[in-house]
Amino acid sequence: MKQIYGAELDYSLLVKKEMNYSIARPFHFFDNSTIQLFKKYCYFWTMIQENVSLKKYNTFGIEAKAKRFAVFSTTEELNEILQQSNEDELLILGGGSNLLLTQDFEGLVIRNEIKGFEVVNESENDVCIKVGSGEVWHEFVLRSIENNFGGVENLSLIPGSVGASPMQNIGAYGVEIKDVFIELEAYHIETGKVKIFSHKECRFGYRESVFKRELKGEYIIVSVTYRLTKNKHQIKASYGAIQSELESNHIDSPSIKDISDAVIAIRSSKLPDPKEIGNAGSFFKNPVVDRSILEKIQLSKKNVPNYPAPNNQVKLAAGWLIEQAGWKGKTFDNYGVHKNQALVLVNYSDCTGEDILNLSTQIIEDVKVKFEITLEREVNII
Ligand SMILES: Cc1cc2nc3c(=O)[nH]c(=O)nc-3n(C[C@H](O)[C@H](O)[C@H](O)COP(=O)(O)OP(=O)(O)OC[C@H]3O[C@@H](n4cnc5c(N)ncnc54)[C@H](O)[C@@H]3O)c2cc1C
Repeated sequence: MKQIYGAELDYSLLVKKEMNYSIARPFHFFDNSTIQLFKKYCYFWTMIQENVSLKKYNTFGIEAKAKRFAVFSTTEELNEILQQSNEDELLILGGGSNLLLTQDFEGLVIRNEIKGFEVVNESENDVCIKVGSGEVWHEFVLRSIENNFGGVENLSLIPGSVGASPMQNIGAYGVEIKDVFIELEAYHIETGKVKIFSHKECRFGYRESVFKRELKGEYIIVSVTYRLTKNKHQIKASYGAIQSELESNHIDSPSIKDISDAVIAIRSSKLPDPKEIGNAGSFFKNPVVDRSILEKIQLSKKNVPNYPAPNNQVKLAAGWLIEQAGWKGKTFDNYGVHKNQALVLVNYSDCTGEDILNLSTQIIEDVKVKFEITLEREVNII
């Protein structure tokens, strides 16, 4: 792996920009502070590596190379890396658990490792915690539970980073990130300025936010602030199999820790662990359709899973539709549809991103023919 060292640095630019000189002077004329600055730039420059394999940085375990790759753990480092790089294409990586790499990335990939937890406000009942976007989401959940802070227990064991949580308004077991979200700070790639986005400005929807739509590719989220309960926790045990999991453990009045444990147990039994089988969780969104479409399906099928949605619409289970179309458990050499969960596409060994993408296209086509419903991919295709 080749690294780029300071020798390649255009220090005339550095001098003009930072020291206010109009002409670059030879190195031995520089004073100590200039040399320090030069060293600093060399340091940032060495952070950018070339031709880096992204296999270990995506939960699908797909082999693809980044032309350039760097890791940042502060906004300052992020700023420096972006200033030093003149790549047109940029990919921000958190845990790589919601993306499919379909080819080598001919630009700069930057991996977010901004850490930190800070209680920024506290009242008798609530606590507001600002979390670095590079923190691991599940570690934040566990830490909250340890401190008896409630609100995110239903979102236990979702892979990925805190920074990606508002990107697609992560959700599970009846809770979405928007329920505990206060605001976030995001770095504007064009200007380098950090802007605060309120709840309203994020425009959350089902696995959606403004960052996946109108502002796609414009901002890098650097911190997220959540409001959690200190007491009077709102226990949500009615969704999915939580209630039966609690019953099997003889728990009638669950704590937030009990809910988290139940969610972890259910998820571990249902979903493939990316460390063992490459996947990105649900590959498709559950479609929201007019009630008339559900009624049409009900003419020929019994027990069609559906959930109420606004405007006389219903949310259908994409996994059920895929299963009915005959795809559950289908395997092709080294990839396929998971045997227990049809919503999850899997890489058993060394398939390509294109294999998975083509498989998803075939599934979309089949479901469309069978039910007149067009499934939408939840995973980001790169
Ligand atoms: C086994 C499994 C189960 C899952 N279960 C669920 C679930 O129950 N509910 C759910 O909602 N999701 C689920 N997911 C999907 C995934 O975990 C979430 O979408 C998660 O939030 C992705 O985080 P990440 O850091 O891995 O994002 P990445 O995959 O690294 O990135 C996803 C997208 O966000 C962008 N991005 C990442 N970080 C930033 C940032 N700081 N600023 C700007 N853009 C950024 C990336 O460029 C990319 O476009 C599951 C995934 C797996 C593998």
